[in-house]
Amino acid sequence: MNPADEEFILQCLRIYYYEYFGIIDIPPELNRHEFGYKRPNSGMMRHIQLQDAAQLRSTLMRELPLDVFLSPARYLSPTSPMPEKEWQSSDLIFDIDAKDLNLECRPSHTVQICTTCGMSSDKECPCDYPKKVSTSVACGRCINASKNEVRKLLDILSDDIGIEESQVRIYFSGNDGFHIHIRDSKLSNLNSLERSELVDYVMFRNILPERLGVRKDNTPSLPKPTDLGWPGRFARHMHGSKMTHPPKNKKVTSDDYAQFSDTLKTLSGILGACVDPGVTTDIRRIFRMPGTINGKSGMTKMLCTNIKKFNPYKDAVLIHDKKVTVRASCPIQFRLMNKKFGPYYDEDVSIPAYAALYLICKQLAHIS
Ligand SMILES: [Zn+2]
Ligand SMILES: [Zn+2]
Repeated sequence: MNPADEEFILQCLRIYYYEYFGIIDIPPELNRHEFGYKRPNSGMMRHIQLQDAAQLRSTLMRELPLDVFLSPARYLSPTSPMPEKEWQSSDLIFDIDAKDLNLECRPSHTVQICTTCGMSSDKECPCDYPKKVSTSVACGRCINASKNEVRKLLDILSDDIGIEESQVRIYFSGNDGFHIHIRDSKLSNLNSLERSELVDYVMFRNILPERLGVRKDNTPSLPKPTDLGWPGRFARHMHGSKMTHPPKNKKVTSDDYAQFSDTLKTLSGILGACVDPGVTTDIRRIFRMPGTINGKSGMTKMLCTNIKKFNPYKDAVLIHDKKVTVRASCPIQFRLMNKKFGPYYDEDVSIPAYAALYLICKQLAHIS
């Protein structure tokens, strides 16, 4: 990152953490968690213990990190190396990311950038060895589809697992999806394997036909729509659906069984919640801290009190709107704060700081 970009980012962060420190969600016993952060242009700092909100504030104002992390886990010794931290418990978290949904719109708002020369376009760059990475810009369809996955997840957690809504916090991740945090003492002791089983459950993955009453050489006894949990959810979906299940009055053949296994796999994608299994099962990771800036976008990891109405491209944009001139190279138009930006073809443009930070974080612009 060039020095002018870095200086601009630090300026934005200084104002942000001064004005918005109050929206950071600080857990009751901050000093039992592992804190970490990343400044622009430097590596990750981890294994830090903060005593209280005052120390968090002074650390943010001094370091001006572009990414801020806190472990969902509580430890006896948060500053020790991982094997010696002495894990005590961990909030349950789920990560829903639009890029995992493989939506049709995805290619239309994804830009290829060469990290060697910084050019972003579909054209060939002048590099002998171009290093291409892709970055995605704002898309309402991706957000709506992610919200739908959140809805599915919350229904399963509340109907089947009995998790109360008051224990659940939904956050916009700050970039391309949602983070669900659950602080429930009954669940915080679950180990990694148990969390993995829970992930399979919410995703409706690895379901054996037997669970839904289909056994080889037996007549099937399929679930009823009024049944609880997945059997009932399955039955309600199949009612009026064109998907097939084994005929009710005949013994299940090997072919029937195999076909039904395939149906269940397809249903996982439709009925299951699409979460990132690695995030939920890794009970020792550090995770983006709610209320802080996401360095991939310059937007905030923001609490959603009404997810239906939540518009991340307005509600999570908290950087100021003073005009800044940047050299922008973003061939795709996007909207922030209900304003259209781009497309920009390697040109100098004067845009509000929030849009400049957004483009700089996405490597699609530089301070000129
Ligand atoms: Zn290049
Ligand atoms: Zn999209």
